[in-house]
Amino acid sequence: MKKFKLVIIGGGPGGVQAAISAQRYHELKDILVVRHESKAVIPCSIPYIYGTLGSVDKNLMPDRLLCGAKVKVGDAVSIDHNKMTVSFADGERIGYDKLILATGSRPVVPPIPGVDKANVYLVNKDIYCLRDLTQAMEGVRHILVVGGGLTGVEFAVECRKRGHQVTIVELQKYCLQSVYTQELCIRVEASLARQGIAVLTNTFVSSFEGSQKAECAELDSGQRVKCDLVIVCVGVLPNTGLAEHASLDIGSTGGIKVDEFQKTSAPDIFAVGDCAEKYSFFDHQPIAARLASVAIREASIAAANLCSARSRNTGTITVFSTIVGEIAVSLAGLTPSRASELGYDVIVGKAQATSRYPEAIPGGKWLTVELTFDRSSGRLLGGSACGAMTAGEIGNLMASCIFGGLTMEQVTLLPVGTHPWLTASPFACQLTSAAADALHRVGSQQPLNEKQ
Ligand SMILES: Cc1cc2nc3c(=O)[nH]c(=O)nc-3n(C[C@H](O)[C@H](O)[C@H](O)COP(=O)(O)OP(=O)(O)OC[C@H]3O[C@@H](n4cnc5c(N)ncnc54)[C@H](O)[C@@H]3O)c2cc1C
Repeated sequence: MKKFKLVIIGGGPGGVQAAISAQRYHELKDILVVRHESKAVIPCSIPYIYGTLGSVDKNLMPDRLLCGAKVKVGDAVSIDHNKMTVSFADGERIGYDKLILATGSRPVVPPIPGVDKANVYLVNKDIYCLRDLTQAMEGVRHILVVGGGLTGVEFAVECRKRGHQVTIVELQKYCLQSVYTQELCIRVEASLARQGIAVLTNTFVSSFEGSQKAECAELDSGQRVKCDLVIVCVGVLPNTGLAEHASLDIGSTGGIKVDEFQKTSAPDIFAVGDCAEKYSFFDHQPIAARLASVAIREASIAAANLCSARSRNTGTITVFSTIVGEIAVSLAGLTPSRASELGYDVIVGKAQATSRYPEAIPGGKWLTVELTFDRSSGRLLGGSACGAMTAGEIGNLMASCIFGGLTMEQVTLLPVGTHPWLTASPFACQLTSAAADALHRVGSQQPLNEKQ
């Protein structure tokens, strides 16, 4: 029986980062990465295969990222944590000293009659499924996207770029409502409309009609939407079959239960990424946040802790970023309404400026930043950036400020660099200005004598 010092089950972002970090922290060479796919795809850019990239082959995760770790393409079917072995569908059994589970997630299949029809596609992170979808789109006119979350919206935009007639059907009042504020959702939907994408919200598909293929979707309202192809993007569920089979504890959002060191309930077994339970940075309660960025952070933590406890996960801060037509959007941490639900007395500051200066420099775009602070401690809880392409990096900067526990005053005085082509003007840095706005609002609510 072969044995490895470290076996990682999963070749997605979590598994790959675990292999990289294990080598970095421990100079460990004896590592096996196990995955189903002969070639791994980059999951975040899957929607862009269909418009911008044009082919699945331009969206592969190269094995050189694994820095020499061995790869087994196979299906791990069981773990014996007493004997410290993993068994595979091909009959092989492999021993481990340490095991990291990075088994990821799979798409939710909604219980809609007709969802199993030939032209109804789920978004699997698998090269062959994704290639099938590329071929199926050829010559198709009407594409229906079920689910207006980040994945659904990104698919809709890319399909529209190819010239298809696209309709999104979304259960909630707005697309992206589960991650963004209402104001941001409205801006996103306006951009979708400008691109000619039809958006039907507050409704759901009750059935797909057609003989072999779905030809139209019937909505709960009775409305019928023509479709030649359907892409279903209604969320993901953690892959916990292996862990459950090995009697590992499962958390309340369905992920493998882990402690702050990413250790599971079984000795020498860690779990990271979409398959692992996550806990909010703010109240340490379980949250369902399945992002590659989160998977990579957890994988670094698990790898650091393989031999002894060195790195602690103090909680997940999500950053949801996307681009919809001409606008980029990012939201870090809590929305104002979520912060209020958690019991914070919220104060919001806002600022807007062009992304380049002076305005005569070409290519500048407006960027609006909104920051949410806790009034009593002054600490930053969340923030959004919307408009120019710098939104993504500003969102990441907000997450860093939240992680560092920075207050209104501290964000106002954040040292930032400026350049006419790269940032807002030194007088108008959107982040520091939004914090200054919040500070001003707090100050203006105090009686004059208290201000002195
Ligand atoms: C369309 C789309 C767009 C996205 N965009 C973004 C984005 O912009 N930003 C972002 O942060 N996140 C994004 N995400 C989310 C991100 O893709 C996931 O959070 C990320 O892939 C999780 O990584 P992971 O390693 O935990 O799991 P996965 O990527 O799901 O990988 C799981 C791995 O485990 C393997 N595996 C599972 N079970 C077994 C077994 N029994 N035996 C062997 N191998 C097994 C699989 O073969 C696979 O290699 C997007 C997701 C999708 C689908």
